[in-house]
Amino acid sequence: MPRTLKLPFAVCGDKIIHISEVESGRQINCLCPVCNTRLIARKGNLRQHHFAHDTGTNCNGESALHWFGKHLLLEAIDRALTEGCTIPMEWQCDQCDHKHDGNLLKKAASVALEQVLGEARPDLLLKDATGKPVVAIEVIVTHEPEQSARDFYLKQNIVVVEVRIKDGIALEALKDLRELKADAVSFCTRKKCPDCHAPLRPKMLNIVVGDCYRCHLPMKVAFIEADGMGFPSSAFSPQEIECAKKQGCILEVRYSKTVNNRYLANVCPKCKAFIGEHYMHNYSCRDDSIEPIQTGWYCSDCNNHFPMKG
Ligand SMILES: [Zn+2]
Ligand SMILES: [Zn+2]
Ligand SMILES: [Zn+2]
Ligand SMILES: [Zn+2]
Repeated sequence: MPRTLKLPFAVCGDKIIHISEVESGRQINCLCPVCNTRLIARKGNLRQHHFAHDTGTNCNGESALHWFGKHLLLEAIDRALTEGCTIPMEWQCDQCDHKHDGNLLKKAASVALEQVLGEARPDLLLKDATGKPVVAIEVIVTHEPEQSARDFYLKQNIVVVEVRIKDGIALEALKDLRELKADAVSFCTRKKCPDCHAPLRPKMLNIVVGDCYRCHLPMKVAFIEADGMGFPSSAFSPQEIECAKKQGCILEVRYSKTVNNRYLANVCPKCKAFIGEHYMHNYSCRDDSIEPIQTGWYCSDCNNHFPMKG
């Protein structure tokens, strides 16, 4: 006998009701949306309260999970569109491996259930104000979307949002949804390198207030960080130098015996001692840093720097 999934929801008339809304026992009005049989509310002390099929049914609940997933999302999206709300969305990007966030309804003006669209029939389709499809939502219980559908979405510039539901608990998270944790989204929010198309990393100017190693008075020290990589002041662009100076850093060209070279260094305002590049790491992770300022973009694949605009 196949495992039967525990359902936290049933259909009652034209409404989806939660197990918490009914008494324990056989329910006259609570149906499975897939096989249309009456469900039993199991509300014992040991296991998670749930709706169950009668023994001997062929309906294992997988299709019901899928049905509820689609309809709970539809309810949430409909409500948000009517109320003019956003649905914040978070996902792990498989293109750049970063976490992204966005608004599921950014371009959406309407939602359609299972609309046939070329090679595909997405569970839910979001369309913009002109009726153009913008986002396909696929609710995945067991069946992955067909490759032909994925190719079609890609060609049509339709973003695919995947929501996986493995059990009733995952389904409950979709009830009165205000925020979506998507399992996959075919969209990377990061700017791409114009040369190699790798995602660019934001360059952040960090300023920490440290103590001068010589006179021990406070001094501001600037460095740039891009996704874990550090760049010392000697690598700053003219705009970055200006930005750091505006924040009260003193940057001057100094000669370092250690590296036998002249470079732009952070200098103490009082005693004019400068911090050698090899000592910069002492300053890189301090709590007393000033809110980082983005100064541009960096491609770690081709080692290119790009300024903020453009
Ligand atoms: Zn059923
Ligand atoms: Zn990304
Ligand atoms: Zn590149
Ligand atoms: Zn000093």
